[in-house]
Amino acid sequence: SAPLSIVRGAGEAADKGVLMRTGEAFQALRKIDTVVFDKTGTLTEGRPAVRSIHGINGNDDTLLAFAAAVEAASEHPLGRAVVEAALERGLDFPDVEDFHAESGRGVTAWVDGESVRVGSPAFLSSAGIALDVLQERIDAAEQQGHTVVVVARGDRLLGAIALGDALRADTVDTIARLHGVGIRTAMLTGDNERTARHIGQRAGIDDVYAGVLPDQKAERLRAMQRNARLAMVGDGINDAPALMQADIGIAMGSGTDIAIDAADIIILNGQLGAVITAWEISRWGYRKML
Ligand code: ADP
Ligand code: MG
Repeated sequence: SAPLSIVRGAGEAADKGVLMRTGEAFQALRKIDTVVFDKTGTLTEGRPAVRSIHGINGNDDTLLAFAAAVEAASEHPLGRAVVEAALERGLDFPDVEDFHAESGRGVTAWVDGESVRVGSPAFLSSAGIALDVLQERIDAAEQQGHTVVVVARGDRLLGAIALGDALRADTVDTIARLHGVGIRTAMLTGDNERTARHIGQRAGIDDVYAGVLPDQKAERLRAMQRNARLAMVGDGINDAPALMQADIGIAMGSGTDIAIDAADIIILNGQLGAVITAWEISRWGYRKML
């Protein structure tokens, strides 16, 4: 009978590192035609590291110390990477007050009576900081798939930091296998267009949606759902509304509790390839029911 078959499939899925929250999730999974992936921490390992530092007038240590001082209070992986790089260089951080994070854009705090901003080029531009002197280097880093974080003290640009985050070992294979069974793939990220395109190309993803702020992610899925049945795979707090909006939400078990709570399916073995395993089992389980 159907319920037995669902239970059997779910048990097999659990053996392979996939937790199905409900029988409905299991049935809905086999009907999806598109899988949407978050970028950072889902397609990538989510452990960005500083790759290059571009201090104005070669002043890399000042740039890094100010950036790290502000990022010390941040929970974002980019922030953690900046702090790590500053610690490795043995830099002293100036004291900061009034830390504030703007989701999907960056962080700010006060240092010595001046506001220090650390975030995406778009975030600093919108705060009135001219980036012209760094634009070529920003473009070049983004074209390599790096994420560039810009730093300003008051209205003075201190420089830029380029960070790289490796693809998961099984990302390319997982995307290829999804295409092999006729499933379309998309990436949804708050990161900029150039970086996102590069990562999307390396992963082999069909469609790339970049520059999507956290509160726009669910809305973007809703628009896609007009002509697609979607599974969404994510790991971050930012992904929770999108995981709930998708026909099926899949969370990486290494992700935040909020993402895990929002998901129908949880990947427990840390392998992105578990997405295709879950899909295969949901198909197999259903065939067995007939
Ligand atoms: P994603 O969708 O890839 O998980 P986010 O929405 O978290 O990305 O962030 C989007 C962009 O906002 C980042 O690529 C970065 O440019 C900027 N940003 C967010 N948080 C920070 C931070 N703590 N420090 C610097 N930049 C940040
Ligand atoms: Mg993420």
